[in-house]
Amino acid sequence: MDCIFCQIVAGQAPATILYQDEQVTAFKDIHPVAPTHLLIVPNKHIASVNEIVPEDEPAMGQLFTVAKSLAEQTGIHENGYRLIVNTGAHGNQIVYHLHMHLIGGQRMRHPIG
Ligand code: AMP
Ligand code: ZN
Repeated sequence: MDCIFCQIVAGQAPATILYQDEQVTAFKDIHPVAPTHLLIVPNKHIASVNEIVPEDEPAMGQLFTVAKSLAEQTGIHENGYRLIVNTGAHGNQIVYHLHMHLIGGQRMRHPIG
């Protein structure tokens, strides 16, 4: 198992885990770009959005519900935040285990892209 996020999900690599259930795990990004920077991942290894299959829909939906809860818990929900899923080379995806960035605590740059 050479996927760092699979190792974090399995508790075999260090991470500050804020939430975990049967489908998803949320932990702090190791190189935060804003006061709040969390990653939410499916526990199942899905390399990128390109590899999602219909059976993954519950877990994919849960990425959003957990993002909402963590935004409330960290107190950024009222001011707002950004959710990002980088995909492939043009998306600057670095870790090929699908993950949602939850970034907030300061005004995001605009425009994106
Ligand atoms: P990307 O694939 O471009 O969406 O970005 C991958 C993100 O994973 C980056 O923000 C990294 O800082 C983060 N990251 C990489 N390794 C770890 C790790 N071991 N623990 C927490 N975050 C990580
Ligand atoms: Zn993985």
